[in-house]
Amino acid sequence: MDVTEAIDDSFGIDVIFPDGDKTAPCCPHGPTLLFEKVGKGGEKGRRFYACSACRDRKDCKFFQWEDEKVSEARHLAREAENKSNRPQFTHQQYCSRFRKFASLPLHEKKFCQDCQVLLLPGEHGADSSHTSMAVTAAQLRRPSVLLRPLDNKKSNAQYLFTDHSSNFLLDTLAALGYRKVLCVGTPRLQELIKLRNLEQKHEPMKSLLLDIDFRYAQFYNKDEFCHYNMFNHYFFDGEASSAVLQAFLTESDGDKVVMVADPPFGGLVKPLANSFSLISQTWRKLQSSDSGNADMPMVWIFPYFFEPRILECLPSFAMLDYQVDYDNHPLYKHGKTGRKQSPVRLFTNISPRDVVLPKEEGYRFCSLCQRFIWSLNRHCAKCNVCPSKDGREWKHCSACEKCVKPSWRHCQSCGRCALPDHPCGKAQGKEGCFNCGSLKHKLKACPVKDSHRANRHRPNAKSGLKNVSRPPVFKAKAKRKSGAARRAKKMAALSV
Ligand code: SAH
Ligand code: ZN
Ligand code: ZN
Ligand code: ZN
Ligand code: ZN
Repeated sequence: MDVTEAIDDSFGIDVIFPDGDKTAPCCPHGPTLLFEKVGKGGEKGRRFYACSACRDRKDCKFFQWEDEKVSEARHLAREAENKSNRPQFTHQQYCSRFRKFASLPLHEKKFCQDCQVLLLPGEHGADSSHTSMAVTAAQLRRPSVLLRPLDNKKSNAQYLFTDHSSNFLLDTLAALGYRKVLCVGTPRLQELIKLRNLEQKHEPMKSLLLDIDFRYAQFYNKDEFCHYNMFNHYFFDGEASSAVLQAFLTESDGDKVVMVADPPFGGLVKPLANSFSLISQTWRKLQSSDSGNADMPMVWIFPYFFEPRILECLPSFAMLDYQVDYDNHPLYKHGKTGRKQSPVRLFTNISPRDVVLPKEEGYRFCSLCQRFIWSLNRHCAKCNVCPSKDGREWKHCSACEKCVKPSWRHCQSCGRCALPDHPCGKAQGKEGCFNCGSLKHKLKACPVKDSHRANRHRPNAKSGLKNVSRPPVFKAKAKRKSGAARRAKKMAALSV
């Protein structure tokens, strides 16, 4: 059998967090992650290091087998490359530029749309092919409106909350007594906190933004922004930034802190959960001794179909019914044309019954579940839950003994509920594992339950990596709908 064929047949990949302090090699995005290919029957493939942040090798081409020897020359070339990828200015320099900028008269305040930088007087028209625009004081306070949202579909698409959803989040957190918000990948939330503080209508809140988008360093000082990679908990500015985080997590004067993260939806759950756990650990160490093993309150915003994965990694979390709205997502913004329901939810370790969802928007309290639920989510007496995940009204199937999506019908030959046009008798998952397809075990016993999204790190056929061995090709079998494949399909629908 041809090698590529064997590889094509493989199923998923898993991220490995080795215990011990073996250090991973670094790409421009900090320490890489160790991946392991997992075959159909659960057999393990050769491990390799690849970028933590970029799903597409076009965006970061780092690749190294775990057992590969790296020559001194290649090592140096890599370090040079990592250095050359640093931003044009240091955060310090950006801060002093900002102070100068803020003191300029209005007609001299310009922003280059091509470079996405605030321009100082000598820099106007430096590149005649670039377009610059005037910046008002109000615009300066809304960097998430001024900056063009990154739209790299695979790694770093930026979907910004509607003001409505941001205000809901802030009102809710304020009502719960939080006075400090750690904004991880939520620049618009940070911006709104600062705006609300200016308005003086609300309880003042502090915020710290951790984000990989360095453009934000132009607008925020060192106590407000750290250049951070949430997939490997890496601070690009090292110790100085981790000290800023520590100071922020210290709850002096009874200021309670909460994290709100909105990672890119294509991101791997396991490394994110790992980073958030590390943040929680840091917080815990800074607590006064009486709150011994409490967890830091957190809200992780992510599509509902990741629920099993998130709960597997963070069992103390629960998914809430609240649907998060975005301004610039074509599929689910709250539009004039009628609203498409957003698939994005809040996952949190804050007690669900404390998170009051707005009645005016169709949420109500289920006293049996002790949480707020969406109007169409009806409590099922047989399952004893409000079962709906996707916002539609689910119905109970007595043969399956559980609630299922409204579009599903019970199929006698498959012995379970499925879409009416499902490939009948083929994909029942009855005789094999629903996750990896192996016939040797069931899902519960699956050794590779952690494996996730089969299409990650598909090598770019055109990238001329001549002296580097190529990573394996991962291809999900078209017909087999594993958890990962189903999520991948939904993800594809999201990234329109
Ligand atoms: N809804 C949020 C924005 C979410 S978009 C808001 O309105 O504020 C995802 C955010 O995560 C972006 O700000 C993006 O820059 C950031 N991001 C993407 N990859 C990241 C990474 N590896 N580490 C840290 N932040 C990242
Ligand atoms: Zn990288
Ligand atoms: Zn209920
Ligand atoms: Zn039911
Ligand atoms: Zn059924």
